[in-house]
Amino acid sequence: MTTILVHAPAVAHTKLHHPENSSRIANIIPDLGKFGLLGDLEILHPKPATEKQLQRVHNEGLIDFVKSVSQRGGGLLDRGDTYATADSYELARLAVGGSCMALDAIMEGRANNGFALVRPPGHHAERDHISGFCLFNNIAAAARQAQIEHNADRVLILDFDVHHGNGTQDIFYEDDSVLFISMHLFAPYFYPGIGSFHEIGTRKGRGYTINVPFPPGVGDRGYLRVLKEFVRPLIERFDPDIMLVSIGFDAHWRDPLAMAGLSLAGYASFSQSLINIAGKVCEGRILFVLEGGYQRDVLSYGIANVFEALLGRDSFYDPFGPMIEEERDVSNLLEDLKSRDLPF
Ligand SMILES: [Zn+2]
Repeated sequence: MTTILVHAPAVAHTKLHHPENSSRIANIIPDLGKFGLLGDLEILHPKPATEKQLQRVHNEGLIDFVKSVSQRGGGLLDRGDTYATADSYELARLAVGGSCMALDAIMEGRANNGFALVRPPGHHAERDHISGFCLFNNIAAAARQAQIEHNADRVLILDFDVHHGNGTQDIFYEDDSVLFISMHLFAPYFYPGIGSFHEIGTRKGRGYTINVPFPPGVGDRGYLRVLKEFVRPLIERFDPDIMLVSIGFDAHWRDPLAMAGLSLAGYASFSQSLINIAGKVCEGRILFVLEGGYQRDVLSYGIANVFEALLGRDSFYDPFGPMIEEERDVSNLLEDLKSRDLPF
């Protein structure tokens, strides 16, 4: 049993008082050491993505834009708060390259599963548009790597960052070889403002984008119920060759950016279930890729818990417990989701 850890903390891609800064995972290796996990993991040192790997998911204009902003010392990449420093182009390439290396190890059978702890995150980066603290789309590049370099026919991407994975949705919106499922908070004025039930893909990709728009305060039970009753049967039906998971820890109730109400125990059960599904449908091939999560303690415990699950253990840490508020019922949402017509 080999579990891969790729660490690309992008220390020089950082901004003072910005939630997506280098302190998020800079110390994650010693943290994992404190949990006694390091001896059980194989650590891969990331190499930068090639131009070709980037061009599979982004147009050249976007890639050149990041490069030129970095070359002139950094600046803002969108009208919001997505920044680059002088080093960001190279560091964002490392995040993509590291994700693809972990994917290679799993597809070549050198590892069973893995977790790419990379920055900057990627799931808001569209084919030709940058937003949401994301530069290049790490998980989308890993999906294309699986298909192009390892002949994977069907790739599943499950995104359960609290924000909708609009970048990943955009890249695969017309594609029937990648099933994209995003479970996210969907509320007025909540970023990125898309990800409704009715966005389902187009042309050949019609039906291969599935959005699960949660109300605020859905909590552990809602997430786990939708996974069990809707998402799991869907993944089994699609029968992917590998499962890729965009995981963000900003759905935790302590996170400053959202209010989805998950606990660390909920994250652990959710991750264990996904690993269990991968064991059933694709010989356990599963790669987690880090997206958001802006509360450092939650990140450390949450990441440690995913590694426990990847190593096949039931143990997890949850010093913070569940949220205090009552959880929202998801019965109506589940009914809507189950009434969908699917092309597969
Ligand atoms: Zn997020």
